Formats: sequence, structure tokens, C-alpha cells
Amino acid sequence: MYSLLINNVSHYGRIGSEEVFLFHLANGSMDVYITNYGATITAITIPGTDGVKRNVVAGFNSLNNYLQPHPYLGCIVGRFANRIAEGRFAIDENHFTLSVNNPPNHLHGGYNGFDRKVWKLKSSFSEEDTCGITLACFSEDGEEGYPGNVSAEVSYVLTRNNALQIQYEATTDRDTIVNLTNHSYFNLSGFRNETIKDHILHLPAEKYAEKNRHGIPTGVLPEVADGPLDFRKPRVLHEVLAAFPQDGGLDHFFVTNPSLTLPTHAATLSDTSSGITLEVWTDQPGCQVYTANFWDGSLTGSEGNPLIKHGAIAIETQNFPDAPNHPGFPSSILRSGEVYRAFTSFKFV
Ligand code: BGC
Repeated sequence: MYSLLINNVSHYGRIGSEEVFLFHLANGSMDVYITNYGATITAITIPGTDGVKRNVVAGFNSLNNYLQPHPYLGCIVGRFANRIAEGRFAIDENHFTLSVNNPPNHLHGGYNGFDRKVWKLKSSFSEEDTCGITLACFSEDGEEGYPGNVSAEVSYVLTRNNALQIQYEATTDRDTIVNLTNHSYFNLSGFRNETIKDHILHLPAEKYAEKNRHGIPTGVLPEVADGPLDFRKPRVLHEVLAAFPQDGGLDHFFVTNPSLTLPTHAATLSDTSSGITLEVWTDQPGCQVYTANFWDGSLTGSEGNPLIKHGAIAIETQNFPDAPNHPGFPSSILRSGEVYRAFTSFKFV
């Protein structure tokens, strides 16, 4: 019988007066390492069919690497994941202007989003079949242009059956917008294969969000219907990566949960070389699938892997990009007094 454990394995470092930790969730087969800097998943190790454990997410070996600019490896992105056109939106009659950190748009919460915060450990637990931690952060009224003081929490829970469940909560004292996701990049070979070109992807999405050349949805949701974005049947990625020369690969929002039901299947990713399969479940409207198209090899990951183009794939469960500017998309407004909640599970099967 395995025991689930949570260890505060190490002091990872210090940022000013704030201590940074590396937490370790383990269930005897799978290990998850999380730092409170950016509430970031630094590693997930899991055995392949050969019994050898591999780290299947892109990460770094030290806090210093995370403090440098990097493509959001493993962190929580917020207050609003993905793009907001020209950094502008309105709630009722009130107009707001956000930082434009990805010209001409606002991306992933701005220059100093939730990925750059030292989160506080709120609680931890270890029970018969699960163990986990809850991290909390605070975002001031006006930060990056957003209205309202926001308190956010993310819980990472590891189950006995190899699911990493992520539960988000946020509250505000003034109406604002919220869209939180985890930005882990997966390479299920454990980076033994340099790219994810041989990974097989299945997405039950009938529709995707058409976008303009700046990555902003036009509002049209075309059917995937037998085109290059049709993953309703599992497909090997190398068949489709070349179909999007402007993006350099996949960087698209798929509508996997149009009826916004309870957690529903959003994606299955598998690698035949390791035999590892990841299932993604979420209660969010869909996911942005991004195949690390802008990785240029200048950074080195924790497995000694240069972060090269198509070196990994992110499946970012979230509300629609630019939702605040599209009345037809599910609302991303969080009213004062309400609680934002979102759930995602990364389950290894
Ligand atoms: C976006 C990409 C962006 C990347 C930054 C992804 O979530 O979809 O467009 O370049 O994040 O690392």
C-alpha cells in the first residue's frame, strides 16, 4: 500500500523578504513538484511502460531561472489568461486599459501577472487517497490596469489514481474580470524525444475560435470539420504543425465544453515511445493548445533539454481569449461578492 505524502522538501530561495519553497506531492508512483513562485509546477514525474520514471513537464532546476524572462513554464497565469485586444475592455459603462505587454495586446495578465508573484501557502493536507496544497495570492486594485482588489487561490491535489487536480478560486471587492489557467508544457517522452511531433492528440472540440493575425478571436466559431484543426479522432501532431505557417504550429482555442457542464473531457495526449497518456478534464469552455512555436533553444530545461520549437505542448484550459470584448462568449466578469471557481484535472492513464 502506497502512502500519499506532502513534503516541504526545500527552501528554494528568497525574493526580498519572501521565502520561496518547493513542495512535493507524491503517491508512490507519481511525483509533483510545485514552487510558490508563480504557483508553478516545476516537474511531474511518472513511470513509462518500461517502469522508468520521467519528468513530463518543461521546468527549470533553480529559482533563478524562473526569475528570468521565460515562456510561462508551468505557472499560473492571471488575472486573465490569453489575450485581450489592445488591452481594453469595459464592464457596464466603465472602461479599463491594461498594460500592453504583447503588442498590440495584453497577454497572460501583463508584465507582472500571477506568474511573477510569491504565493503564500494557505494550507496543506494528506488523506487516505489524496494530498495537496492551497496557495494564495493578492492582486491590488489597479495592478496592470485591472479594477478591484482580488484574492486568488489555487489548490493542487494529487490523487491515488494519478490525477493532478487544480481548483481555482478568486474574489474581488470591485467588479473585474478573471480567467485563470495553468501553463504547463508537456513532453510525455520525458524530453527523450526533442519534440512532440510524434505525440498523438485527441480533442473532442467541434468548433474553434477563428482569430485575426494578432491572435484575437473574430467572434466566429467555425466547425473543425475535417480541416487541420479536426482532432475529433486522435492525430499525430506532425501531420498538422506545418499547416499554420503564420503561427509556426498550433496556437488555437478549441471549444471543448460548449454546454459548460461539469468537468468534461477536454483533451487526450499520448506518446507511444514512453507509453504515457495524459487526459485533461475541465469545467472551463475550452483550451488553448500551444505547441511552443516560439521556443528558440536559448533556454535549457531541467532535463538538460534545450527549449526548442515544438519541444513541448501546452493545453491551457480556460475561458475564451478576449472574452470581455465578446458578448457572445461566456462572461469572464467577476462581480464583487461573487466567487470565481474553475477546475481542471491532468490525469495520467
Ligand atoms: C499563447 C501563445 C503565447 C505563449 C507565450 C500561449 O498561451 O497561446 O500565443 O506566445 O502563451 O508563452
